[in-house]
Amino acid sequence: MYLFKRVADLQKYLGALKKKGKEIGMVPTMGALHSGHISLIEKARRETDAVVCSIFVNPTQFNDPADLEKYPRPIESDIERLESAGCNILFLPSAEEIYPPGLDTSVHFEFGDLDQALEGVFRPGHFKGMAEVVNRLLNIVQPDKLYMGQKDFQQFTIVRAMLEQKGAPIELVMCPVIREDNGVAMSSRNARLTPHDRTLAPLLYQTLRQADFMKERFTPEEIKKACSEKLNNTPGLKVEYFDLVDGRTLLPIESFADADFIVVTLAVWVGEVRLIDNVILKSVEAQSATAE
Ligand code: AMP
Repeated sequence: MYLFKRVADLQKYLGALKKKGKEIGMVPTMGALHSGHISLIEKARRETDAVVCSIFVNPTQFNDPADLEKYPRPIESDIERLESAGCNILFLPSAEEIYPPGLDTSVHFEFGDLDQALEGVFRPGHFKGMAEVVNRLLNIVQPDKLYMGQKDFQQFTIVRAMLEQKGAPIELVMCPVIREDNGVAMSSRNARLTPHDRTLAPLLYQTLRQADFMKERFTPEEIKKACSEKLNNTPGLKVEYFDLVDGRTLLPIESFADADFIVVTLAVWVGEVRLIDNVILKSVEAQSATAE
């Protein structure tokens, strides 16, 4: 695996690959890699000629400086994991490389309501920062395919809208949520769960699955109410949102006939740790998010 810290060196190397007609896959991450991230690398490895993984803890998407400070940075073990997953190129830039003084990196993208819904209510500014860094990384790497996780569904939706608006010739690939054996979606935050939290965390996915079973006989509103109550009535859990939304607009649906792409999505505090998760309830696109 090649490691580049500077934009110019990375671009020189990629330029040579592109000249040979090689297809480039890109996996942007913030490091602290787990099997969820690695599944993206492996998928990109199977589907493209050369995989670029970036590790950059992007300051502009953190609204809490303490959260940014606390973000884990186990770079040695990340490198080992990437090597064994067959990643070809690691891009490990400094903040100065991503945001060089004098370069306007702001994105000219009309978010509409996409960054206001769901996470947007609780993390103001987060998606603007995310879009800025993804846009900058894409401008640097100019990949053929971009691999992102369904786990961060709103992020995926915003990046898809951004690529559509830009008319960028990049294929965005949704990768399924990788879970622990008990159903908990893998996340670097899981390391902060206490032993007691760990007994509660599986309830999140169980409840999303329950919503899926309920969709045959109940309205979205009834499902939202029953599932939120079930979670909130469990001591140690606190729901921030539990919503059934149109998978493109992220707006709540009133009936299952309202949209052909529907997702049930949640953010729940498990003790001191805020976890997000989602399940696709209805979609032709779901086929691309099925675990292989
Ligand atoms: P992050 O480092 O948290 O920014 O995540 C980098 C990429 O990995 C994003 O596209 C995430 O959606 C994806 N990802 C994170 N957790 C998982 C998971 N459990 N399963 C699949 N993909 C994931």
